[in-house]
Amino acid sequence: MTNITEPVNTLKGIGKETESQLNEMGIYTIEDLIWTFPYRHEDFRLKDLAQTPHNEKVTIEARVESVPSVLYLGKNKSRIQVTVLAGRHLVKVVFFNQNYLRTKLTPGQVVTVSGKWDRGRQVINGTSIKFGPKMDHTDFEPVYSLKGSIHQTKFRKYMRQALDSLNGVMEETLPLQLIDQYQLPTILDALEGVHFPKDAEHAKQARRRFVYEELLHFQLRIQALRKTTKENEKGIAIQYDLQKVRDFIATIPFELTNAQKRVVNEISKDLKQPHRMNRLLQGDVGSGKTIVAAIALYSAVTAGYQGALMAPTEILAEQHMESLKSWFDPIGVKVALLSGSTKTKERRILLEKLHNGEIDILIGTHALIQPDVIFKNLGFVITDEQHRFGVEQRRILRDKGMNPDVLFMTATPIPRTLAITAFGEMDVSIIDELPAGRKQIETHWLKKEQLNASITKMESELRQGRQAYIICPLIEESEKLDVQNAVEVYEQLATIFNGRYKVGLMHGRLHPDEKDEIMRAFTEGKVDVLVSTTVVEVGVNVPNASFMAIYDADRFGLAQLHQLRGRVGRGVHQSYCVLLADPKTEEGKERMMSMTQTNDGFKLAEKDLELRGPGDFFGKKQSGLPDFKMADLVHDYRTLETARQDAARLIYDEQFWQAEDYRHLREMLEESGILTGERMD
Ligand code: ADP
Ligand code: MG
Repeated sequence: MTNITEPVNTLKGIGKETESQLNEMGIYTIEDLIWTFPYRHEDFRLKDLAQTPHNEKVTIEARVESVPSVLYLGKNKSRIQVTVLAGRHLVKVVFFNQNYLRTKLTPGQVVTVSGKWDRGRQVINGTSIKFGPKMDHTDFEPVYSLKGSIHQTKFRKYMRQALDSLNGVMEETLPLQLIDQYQLPTILDALEGVHFPKDAEHAKQARRRFVYEELLHFQLRIQALRKTTKENEKGIAIQYDLQKVRDFIATIPFELTNAQKRVVNEISKDLKQPHRMNRLLQGDVGSGKTIVAAIALYSAVTAGYQGALMAPTEILAEQHMESLKSWFDPIGVKVALLSGSTKTKERRILLEKLHNGEIDILIGTHALIQPDVIFKNLGFVITDEQHRFGVEQRRILRDKGMNPDVLFMTATPIPRTLAITAFGEMDVSIIDELPAGRKQIETHWLKKEQLNASITKMESELRQGRQAYIICPLIEESEKLDVQNAVEVYEQLATIFNGRYKVGLMHGRLHPDEKDEIMRAFTEGKVDVLVSTTVVEVGVNVPNASFMAIYDADRFGLAQLHQLRGRVGRGVHQSYCVLLADPKTEEGKERMMSMTQTNDGFKLAEKDLELRGPGDFFGKKQSGLPDFKMADLVHDYRTLETARQDAARLIYDEQFWQAEDYRHLREMLEESGILTGERMD
């Protein structure tokens, strides 16, 4: 029996040249060879040509009916054609640059041919040919990514020898407990299933095992990192008063959704822990994150701590202030607002009260992180729309407390798959349900020439006292052109309405004060139509706005379209969104269709992920996602979630750290250096 750590050249048929080509592929030992997985399996099941659509891949068994004819097309280029009989079909088979077939193919001979079926011309453009009838075991053949002159058949011969050299013995790397639980194939069976599957099911089960194993390793590393970080970052255990929190929830004028209840529980549990909370709260626009934030802040207050809520703009901070006051005033919790426009004297008094502990909760913008803002006892910090804040700003605010717990809120739906990977070091809570009774935003996709139809619709809304947004085209890399466009649209509309409705203009070149002013006018209903570039505030709440038109909507990604659309549909009125777009690509059309089909931000985010792939979703650099051998984050997200739960449980399980069954997993962690803190990525 060969030892699998031996060099590959101990296998038969591997000479100097082949060895160096294998080396180039990173294959030095027999073991390396075994762990080289195919990137796909070719389906060689026999198909009936009558049932096969044009351009699809087929494999047929056929009898050669003619002498092959060869056409030379130039240097090393040739085309060979032969007529074959497959069942009742007399068809032609064509191969390019396979000159050697000329002497191999003789009339009467049976061959198995695979290729692309040209239904119109009744031709198979061959990709592979085997001489003789099809063999049973070749329904699914792995396809490896190979280098040099090694071709698939040769490579499979080496692989066969490599697997045979195991002699049916290979140490299991997954705990038997998990193999049992999920009915996974053993390591030997799975290796056979990857390299020499008996059938589709065999290949599928093998893949299932390795995907799970790979994702489990990945999640164990993340969970181990999280555990060591938690142990090293001591925080405060906020012992809130459960009864008081319950009483407060009872005073809220609506019933929390199940999703809100769930995330409140997740956050509360975390508050009580002695480590520092580092949690991301995701919830689609309108899902009700503010009340969740309020409950969490109040919990901290009942434990004797102060809380802070930081928003990216003054208007948002004011809106939070309004909501929180309406809930907190009746129960005597002191809330204050600090922003850039707080008057000097008022500010001095406010800061004094903050320092004395007379203010329980401070809401504000960046103004919260100025050096003279001193809390008495800051225990909990929430930042809204976290992506708007720099890491540094968050750190400064955090440092104003004694390592306070931190909750980040965002309305950008990130598919669960990516959230639990990309935010590996953060815990994630998701509100995936809207309060009952919300009306869907009716979304229509119109051609740009149908602009007039949408203006008519807008006018009918305005006549009923509603307000509208017009989002102007985004011109890549030219803010100047963006502005020009917005100004043009603004002037057009102003001319059309001729004073009947007031039109406002908003774009990135305005001074922050001007922006605030125009937003305020819109919020207060003094402006009926707001023409804006995409700078229109995330999270702004104008419940009376019921109409939005988005120019050149196909230039936006799904996530951004969804964000923009979320500016309407926030009140009791039925709302409308019109996408004006003539997309040139299939993908663009699909995006427009998706928008008209669903209002669900998470569904759209999943779709976005599917259309763009995980790398693009965040931008390649940020994603920090490892390269997987088999797993695919988009399609294997359920397995990823299972692996995450298993890893989170195992890492705190005595058994995991002691039992022989888990030794392989422990060794994997030890090698990663995470346990000793050598690698903190
Ligand atoms: P977002 O998650 O976008 O910040 P908000 O917190 O602003 O959403 O909530 C949107 C609106 O829904 C607010 O008017 C809020 O009071 C209301 N709301 C929140 N939760 C519920 C609920 N469970 N039932 C009914 N209305 C709710
Ligand atoms: Mg909000």
